[in-house]
Amino acid sequence: MGTIIRNAHPIGASLADTNLRFEDGRIAALNPLQDPSQTSDTVIDGAGKLAIPGFINAHTHLAMVLFRGLADDVPLQVWLEDHIWPLEQQLQPEDVYWCSLLGIAEGIRSGTTTFVDMYFHNEQIARAVEESGVRALLAYGMIASSLQDRGRSELAKTESLVQNWHGRANGRIQISVSPHAVYTCGEEVIRAAVDMAHKYGTTLHTHVSETRSEVDEWKAKTGMTPVEYLQSLDVFSVPTLAAHCVHVDADDIGILAAHPVTVAHCPKSNAKLGSGIAPVHAMHQSGVSVAIGTDGAASNNRLDIVEELRACWMLQRASHENPAYMSSTQVISMAVRAARGLVGLPEDGFSEGAPADVVLFDTNHVHTTPPHDAEAMLAYAVNSRDVTDVYVDGKALLKNGELRTIDEERVISEVRRLLHRLKNR
Ligand SMILES: [Zn+2]
Repeated sequence: MGTIIRNAHPIGASLADTNLRFEDGRIAALNPLQDPSQTSDTVIDGAGKLAIPGFINAHTHLAMVLFRGLADDVPLQVWLEDHIWPLEQQLQPEDVYWCSLLGIAEGIRSGTTTFVDMYFHNEQIARAVEESGVRALLAYGMIASSLQDRGRSELAKTESLVQNWHGRANGRIQISVSPHAVYTCGEEVIRAAVDMAHKYGTTLHTHVSETRSEVDEWKAKTGMTPVEYLQSLDVFSVPTLAAHCVHVDADDIGILAAHPVTVAHCPKSNAKLGSGIAPVHAMHQSGVSVAIGTDGAASNNRLDIVEELRACWMLQRASHENPAYMSSTQVISMAVRAARGLVGLPEDGFSEGAPADVVLFDTNHVHTTPPHDAEAMLAYAVNSRDVTDVYVDGKALLKNGELRTIDEERVISEVRRLLHRLKNR
């Protein structure tokens, strides 16, 4: 017995309203329903709903929801040194589990089925992913100046994470190798990370050219931009997720376009931290694959891809004074499709045999009336509260607006309790 979603409107597939059938965790058929009264499947009414194969949050630090709203308006170094790091150093593995669950719940509620995460205590994040039923590409963010100074132990942590978790939970969990950034990892550490990614056939996840000062300092130190430097270390021989890429020049963009790199554009985080606006239009023109991420909630303050879509097109159009930049089709493709290959999903989410990841948005609301154009509605008008149902591998994680795999009240109270404990030490 399977499930049929009747008469939903699929986005990103060249289909009219359709019936979507899935069974055993896979899309089994499109338009399979001759006579709905004859089926033994569970039938869900999708009339008036938009269907997508789920948003991919291409760069986040889930557990940093703990720092949401903490010292929002201070300079970056003060924020890190006086507020974030002292609390972060006290985090116990179990704390990271509860905070990750909170972040996952927020993501599910806004239509996210897959998370690309970088943090520490990753076994606890993997546990939260496994239990909640979402999909994730997880990474331990390595910080080490040389192999001798922390590097070997950081690499060993990554290796055990790959060995224990890569491909687990029916393939829903994958592991990336992750040197945190050029300025936090020495050359030999980055080279060893590349070797490890090749050895295990994993992807690589790193922060690249987030701020102007990072790029200026790197050029002064090495004569290269961070992108050129990573290229010189052969990093892009591995399929790479490059977070931010705010300050990339034409040569950098050429390098990114020529290699299997997916850029994770984080428009709200870059705006909140005053980092700038990434040249998304120019990257698209050169054929760079650009996905969308929220970054951590400390620098956002939400994990809401619907808002991220809106920030993306607004900032590109406003900064270039051009209303033709970033069409609804383009911006939706960034959030739904661009990172699918990186996380191991088939390019077309609504094709037979694809994992049954489905998100429904109810458009029977005042702010989504009238329905001229479904893609324009998704890119410009919907909000995350319109998400009613979320399936991953055919399993309901959200049904009629209710979380099915996460005890929301418990998670909220556990996170409140642990923040109280950390602050009162
Ligand atoms: Zn980040």
